Amino acid sequence: MSAAAEQLVTRLRTTFESGRTRDLDWRRDQLRALSRMLTDNEDAFLGALADDLGKPRFEAWAGDLAASASEADHLRKHLGNWAKESSARLPLAFRPGRASVQHQPRGVVLVVAPWNYPVYLLAMPLAAALAAGNAVVCKPSELAPATSALLSRLAGDYLDPDAIAFVEGGVEETTALLEQRFDHILYTGNGAVGRIVAEAAARHLTPTTLELGGKSPAIVDKDANLKQAASRIAFAKWSNAGQTCIAADHAWVHHEVHDEFVDRLATEVRERYGDDPRQSPDFGRIVNERHAARVAGLLDGGGYDEMPVGGTVDIEARYVAPTVLTGVKPDAAVMGEEIFGPVLPVLGFDDISEPITHINRGDHPLALYVFSKTNADRVLAETTSGGACVNDTMLQVFPPSLPFGGVGASGYGAYHGKWGFETFSHRRAVYRRPSFFVEPALAKAPYTAFKERLA
Ligand code: NAD
Repeated sequence: MSAAAEQLVTRLRTTFESGRTRDLDWRRDQLRALSRMLTDNEDAFLGALADDLGKPRFEAWAGDLAASASEADHLRKHLGNWAKESSARLPLAFRPGRASVQHQPRGVVLVVAPWNYPVYLLAMPLAAALAAGNAVVCKPSELAPATSALLSRLAGDYLDPDAIAFVEGGVEETTALLEQRFDHILYTGNGAVGRIVAEAAARHLTPTTLELGGKSPAIVDKDANLKQAASRIAFAKWSNAGQTCIAADHAWVHHEVHDEFVDRLATEVRERYGDDPRQSPDFGRIVNERHAARVAGLLDGGGYDEMPVGGTVDIEARYVAPTVLTGVKPDAAVMGEEIFGPVLPVLGFDDISEPITHINRGDHPLALYVFSKTNADRVLAETTSGGACVNDTMLQVFPPSLPFGGVGASGYGAYHGKWGFETFSHRRAVYRRPSFFVEPALAKAPYTAFKERLA
């Protein structure tokens, strides 16, 4: 296994060293091909995503395909400008001379992706790495096997096989890859494996970007527009059956509006998925039985008073109904780990300082959502998180002008748009001195001019 991984990386390194991937037209061609690969094969991808995750067609199209193709197009249009050597200002002491910053590709990079958005979370970093001129090894998740197989097969047809390679498989294959020396690694997934990746990378001093998860809170204040808050939190919690790293993991709701908010959530579930969400083509499934049993275990763990919405679980069918829990204690099982399923615990508060204190006592979340007319800025000022949305959910990840990444336990580094180009580039500082210039002998041993001053 290791020998195969070594051979693969050597092959890609040879391509990189030939200079082929540095060429801007090559980069544009690969990004165009990536975008075409996703649009030409829409039906095949929608089918694979349905097999792996029961992904509703719209969610699969919007969240995996269209978003990734649009990122590839955006990068293709802008990379010429970003890749230009840019000049930098110089203090007088360094003149005459010229300073500039060159963006250089890092080399051969590794992208390790998870199963929940198995196209998007592979194609987005791949596109960024290509825009920056790297050769790329892609490792899709074995837990989304249909999508992994399709991506690997199509990549061979659309992308340059000497510079972009797909390795399918699980822990063994990833471990063999991690033994190799890469020039950058972008890993998306859980924090336990994130630590394994960071340790393996440290052995080669390889820089890493870790895109991890965590318990992202939503806060609904007493002056929030409740209909909007319920609808937008429902979107974040129940698309992809809650298996979204930036989903609202749980909601803090002001006691004055708590009951009305929960009623509105119940209405949202009915309007979106009907009386029996199991029959709805628009509600997804849990990725596998192990994860379905894990989510069921969180429900069985107690620590809440009522379950006003949902609660049905069929582990074999990988079905967990959209579920709301109320009267949730901060030490409930559902509050102990990232839920990553369609269960929304609701916790009450009287003063905005309560959710703020709770957030600050835990790990920094990947996302934070606040619905409030008066306290949004206070929440932003007194907490930190990878990203945040005021009066909405999840939209912080889509504008290409915004960096996407975690902080603390939710990860480090960022990508999307120009931020991804920067992540996969080395910024080389260049100082050019004109050859006609003869510098004064001040800073030359025996440093006579400084002797007195420094004595
Ligand atoms: P996963 O199980 O698919 O693992 C991710 C990748 O790690 C896979 O390619 C897998 O092969 C590899 N892997 C697994 N075990 C390994 C090991 N022991 N050694 C080396 N490689 C290994 O996905 P997951 O971790 O279950 O994903 C869910 C988690 O990812 C959640 O915590 C979620 O919040 C987080 N996530 C974060 C983002 C983000 O962008 N920040 C996006 C999606 C998911």
